[in-house]
Amino acid sequence: MRLDKFLSETATESRSELKKMIKKGWVKVNGEIIKDPSVHIDENSDEISINGKVFEYRKFVYYMLNKPQGVVSATKDNLHKTVIDLLNDEDKKKGIFPVGRLDIDTEGLLILTNDGEFSHNLLAPNKHVSKKYYAKVEGKLVSDAVEKCKQGIDIGTEEEPEVCKSAELEIISVDEGRSTTEIYLTISEGKFHQVKRMIKKLGGEVVYLKRLSMGKYELDDNLKLGDYKELDK
Ligand code: URA
Repeated sequence: MRLDKFLSETATESRSELKKMIKKGWVKVNGEIIKDPSVHIDENSDEISINGKVFEYRKFVYYMLNKPQGVVSATKDNLHKTVIDLLNDEDKKKGIFPVGRLDIDTEGLLILTNDGEFSHNLLAPNKHVSKKYYAKVEGKLVSDAVEKCKQGIDIGTEEEPEVCKSAELEIISVDEGRSTTEIYLTISEGKFHQVKRMIKKLGGEVVYLKRLSMGKYELDDNLKLGDYKELDK
């Protein structure tokens, strides 16, 4: 790849700043000053440095975000802040997008990447990747809620049934007085508002929802809402 492309994808400086740095002779390829931005380098084996700082090229990046409420799972939005707005300036330049969606009022694990194949493998319906949620529910759930989830709940309408795959419901606690329940629900699909609609069918209303895991990726407890961390390969 061209030296200027490599630098604009890996360094934080703007293209024009990088151009000046190359012209000034601050950029070295394998220890040799290179002043031609169009020079082709091998991003996997050449050592590129600016003023002695070595830059490592990574084609794909993977981040774990603890998504807060009030932020949409999109790259652009005219009304709301997006999960991309939570990234630092350097990461914003990497062409990152969220792997799937969480509702605006849902918190928790969201993976961000620029690797389309990785994203597809986590989201494709035939991959059956499980997603575990914690929810606070208002209202009394039907007594056979666990069994119903196991069998597969129809969250559609009479005209258009939408039967969910078997899901695992775990009741954490029930507060009879306040008529609230805390649950874990593990599903293996990503239907629109699926958890909220399943709980509605069971007689409750989700008032707080947080995703805890997606496949083998578990939300890091140390990540504060709005924070993210890079995942290694
Ligand atoms: N199910 C929902 O209802 N909302 C989410 O954000 C995720 C799963």
